[in-house]
This record gives sequence, C-alpha cells and structure tokens, in this order.
Amino acid sequence: MAVDATQPYDDQNIFAKILRGEIPARKVYEDDWALAFHDINPQAPTHVLVIPKGRYVSWDDFSSEASEAEIAGFVRAVGHVAREAGHVEPGYRLLANVGSDAHQEVPHLHVHVFAGRPLGPMLA
Ligand code: IMP
Repeated sequence: MAVDATQPYDDQNIFAKILRGEIPARKVYEDDWALAFHDINPQAPTHVLVIPKGRYVSWDDFSSEASEAEIAGFVRAVGHVAREAGHVEPGYRLLANVGSDAHQEVPHLHVHVFAGRPLGPMLA
C-alpha cells in the first residue's frame, strides 16, 4: 500500500519500530542523526536504507521542517554509508520515494543506497 506523504507521522510504522529496537534490522551504521540497515528485499548486491532519527514521513516534511543540524547530519550519514562500503568508484545510486505516485511503502523517510552492479540508466 503506497503512502500518502501528506499524512501525519505514524509512530507505529516499521522503521519507527526498528529505530526503537522493537524489531530487528541488519544495521550497518548509526550516529546521532541516522540509522542505516540492509533492505529486507535487496535489489542490488548492496541495498542499504538510511533513515533519519527524527519523525519525518518523507523528503517533503524533512526538507521543509528539519533543523539544519538534522539535515546536515542525515546527508553526511548517507554519504558515509556509501563511502565506507567502497562504492564511490564505480559508483552508487541514491533514491528517495515520496508519496503514492513514487510508490513509497514505508511512511518514514528513507534513502535507498544501491551499489555493487551496473545499475543501468535511471528510470523516469
Ligand atoms: P519504498 O518503496 O521506497 O518505501 O521502500 C521501502 C523499502 O523498505 C523496500 O525496499 C522494502 O524492501 C524495505 N523494507 C520493508 N520492511 C523492511 C524491514 O523490516 N527491514 C528492512 N527493509 C524493509
């Protein structure tokens, strides 16, 4: 079921539960601002999700409401995850789905990090 990105934040969403440690995740990185863990249904040899620790549904509320520190911390965490996994060369792809047309499934902002194979041209 795709997410309506204008809905209020739901504390029972699955990534909120991962953040609270209520359900397990294969964590790869954590700092004050972000948590990164392997996607449960990987679409590439490396498929990691990076989520902010704050309560944001999508890139939309995050980019408009988060503090400068939260934004900087999250963006640096995404870069760190890709860099530490050794993917700067030959490269990686970042993706953030927002709302129903983009088929966002989980209503907590997440950036997908795909790497480890040629990823092909970007789909519209
Ligand atoms: P979206 O379509 O951008 O919202 O992507 C949601 C992603 O979350 C999908 O790639 C799912 O495979 C992934 N996912 C859903 N539940 C879990 C989980 O419990 N652990 C890790 N990844 C999950």
